[in-house]
Amino acid sequence: MKYHFSVSNPAERFVDITLTLETKSHKQLDLKLPVWRPGRYEEGNFAKNIRRFSVVNSKGEPLSFQKISKSIWRIFANEKDSQITVKYQYYANRLDAGSCYVDDRQLYINPIHCCFYTDELRNEKCMVELDVPFAEIATSLKQSGKRKFEADNFDDLVDSPFIAGSQLQHHSYTVAGTLFHIWIEGDYFPDQNKIVNDFTAFTKTQFKMMQTFPFGEYHFLIQAVPHTFYHGVEHLKSTVIVIGPSSGLHKRELYNELIGVSSHELFHAWNIKTIRPVEMQPYNYDGENYSPSGFVYEGATTYYGDLFLFRCKYFSEEEYFNELNFRINKHLSGEGRFNYSVAESSFDTWLDGYVPGVPGRKTSIYDEGCLITWMLDFLIRKYSGNKKSIDDVFRILFNDFGKKVGDIQQKITDRLQSNAQANHSKHFLLK
Ligand SMILES: [Zn+2]
Repeated sequence: MKYHFSVSNPAERFVDITLTLETKSHKQLDLKLPVWRPGRYEEGNFAKNIRRFSVVNSKGEPLSFQKISKSIWRIFANEKDSQITVKYQYYANRLDAGSCYVDDRQLYINPIHCCFYTDELRNEKCMVELDVPFAEIATSLKQSGKRKFEADNFDDLVDSPFIAGSQLQHHSYTVAGTLFHIWIEGDYFPDQNKIVNDFTAFTKTQFKMMQTFPFGEYHFLIQAVPHTFYHGVEHLKSTVIVIGPSSGLHKRELYNELIGVSSHELFHAWNIKTIRPVEMQPYNYDGENYSPSGFVYEGATTYYGDLFLFRCKYFSEEEYFNELNFRINKHLSGEGRFNYSVAESSFDTWLDGYVPGVPGRKTSIYDEGCLITWMLDFLIRKYSGNKKSIDDVFRILFNDFGKKVGDIQQKITDRLQSNAQANHSKHFLLK
């Protein structure tokens, strides 16, 4: 699948996207748009931002299509059509850490919002071409030419956001042979030494605990906005962080938030991007991926995000305990803890996980999960005479499960296939 991005009028906030793909002799192709994005476990229904959808064959002749669900377009190709081209526009008008945005100084795309796929081509290489007037492109995608990139497969593509900008700042550092990039879009010009030293410090501490990193490179894509804002989203080999007001980032309080969210998101490279609940292996982009483990992938990450800052001496003891105090106070003042467990609240993020919801119905997977991890850490330390800790649990999760995800995934696929075959023969026998 080859995706071409251009913007004819940034003020309109629409991005023009062209997708070219092989039909592989299929006369009928179901083009799907994901209904949610990893990192936010609720439906986003990105299809509502699509307009002017059309499809032609390689001769430019229009092909007919029909929507068969809110996010699936069925294309009817002719027998001789080996390739089709789909054109559409995507409304990119949301500058948060998980969305898409365009104006006259940047094109920021989280591809899961706006890239169609077919089940047949999901595991094949994807190409991206940008036709935009911006000189710099920040992304973890592999560069294959001028403004050309490629991804190993659709899953890699949709977890690799990019920012194309004309005023992007770039800093980098290396820890244990892994290259880290810090990209900044917006009016925030930090002291290079300070930001690189602070990022290096928490990165080294994370490496020291986890021992190996799952990826060869990692990118922090930071959007510094003029208004008050705080949002981070983890991706496979990168993270997007939107924070503001940019004028406040020179003060310790907001800068702490930037360092805090960056440390949190980096730990996600292990905890969710590599160590992931079986219910999400692989991600199902067509609907809910229910899991009771949100308090592990968000809560434990929240616990570690701050703890790493204390361990690397970025946080003073007082600053660290203030963060923990904040969680404890939220726990004590939250009536939901009497009514719903964190596992139930994790499962229900798909229902109302990102809004306050009905008073006292549920708990926060971030705060409660953080406190559970803290308690587990202390219990393990207590019963092992301080020889073991929750660090050992995460190392085991990473080495024995996360790293072997490919093998595990294959086993699941084999099992599903053999179940399908068994069902098929059963069906055949019944007939
Ligand atoms: Zn998180």
